[in-house]
Amino acid sequence: MRRVARATPVPEWVPADLPTSPGVYAFRDASGHPLYVGKSVNLRRRVRGYFYGGGPDNARLAEMLRIACVVTTTPTGSDLEARLEEADRIIQQRPPYNKALKRRGAGYYLELRWSEPFPRLRVVRRPRRTGARYVGPFWGRRTPERVKRLVEKIVKLRSCFEPVRPDSALTPCIQHDLGLCTAPCARRVGLDRYRTQAEAAARLLTDATFSWDLQDRVTQRRDAASAKLDFEGAAVQQARLDWLEELEQYRFVLEDEGGDRSWLIALPGAVDGTRVLQPVARGQVLGRRVISWDSGWPDAVEDACYAIRVAELRVPTVLSPVQSVPSLMVKRWLEEGSPDGVSIDLTRFDTEETIRHLDRSFN
Ligand code: SF4
Repeated sequence: MRRVARATPVPEWVPADLPTSPGVYAFRDASGHPLYVGKSVNLRRRVRGYFYGGGPDNARLAEMLRIACVVTTTPTGSDLEARLEEADRIIQQRPPYNKALKRRGAGYYLELRWSEPFPRLRVVRRPRRTGARYVGPFWGRRTPERVKRLVEKIVKLRSCFEPVRPDSALTPCIQHDLGLCTAPCARRVGLDRYRTQAEAAARLLTDATFSWDLQDRVTQRRDAASAKLDFEGAAVQQARLDWLEELEQYRFVLEDEGGDRSWLIALPGAVDGTRVLQPVARGQVLGRRVISWDSGWPDAVEDACYAIRVAELRVPTVLSPVQSVPSLMVKRWLEEGSPDGVSIDLTRFDTEETIRHLDRSFN
């Protein structure tokens, strides 16, 4: 009996022998420009999967597949490397059908300028001043604006735009009447005390423990006011408590993307006998290096550790939006327990310990 070949919905321009390893794929138009970049732990299954079941439900992806006539793949040895490569290509090449990550080239920061006698919080597009503290990036304006307002209210920081020239003849604005500003403009608070408030604002933004301690103190004050039947005072403290609790809901976006720690990450390479060394210096992902695991690898590890130590001296305290994307991916991968590689915390281990650890892990 003659066998009839089953019709496949996969177009002939999609190679049948795509790799089954993790990696990055790109659908391209007739001139080779990338239309859409993605990553998968199994390239063949992912790419061919676009065409089964009547094609993608997503109208944008369906349109993209009508234009595409080439697909290229770049195998990696690990999912983390695929994630980093995908993010890098989307940010650099800006394929028109990728929505995620493209806007990550821009972001917002909360800024506190220490160079001002009476600092206030600002939402800015770029960290550009020395003598200022930055928190971010945030991927939209609404969150930093809300966080700014909460912190201002909690520590009674000024929210006015004009520079402050203290003058006891001035009448403070309504913010002071509402108990939301200590009014340095009218000399109701001195420079030193106001700067202590600004310090508290910076710590609230970056230090969850400080925020929890403050919650405990405010709770005690509220309870003490209640015990004395000072219900107005208790209500004031309760309002501060509510703001502090709301601020905690934003804690996950206030966290430093990469933290202060440095890592050497070793991943399986795409080719047998190779490994990929991915150094991370104080949260910033540095250039990767593919090495042979058969010979000379301890020297390569030593070089990577040295590169991290040098970079630690130079990396900025706040990352740019573009730098923060790979940092966030590495952070998530570490939180997942480094599923497809080995991560060594270089804030705890020196180079020799790192080499011994990798030797035990891979040999
Ligand atoms: S009270 Fe004075 S310092 Fe405070 S917000 Fe109003 S104008 Fe600014």
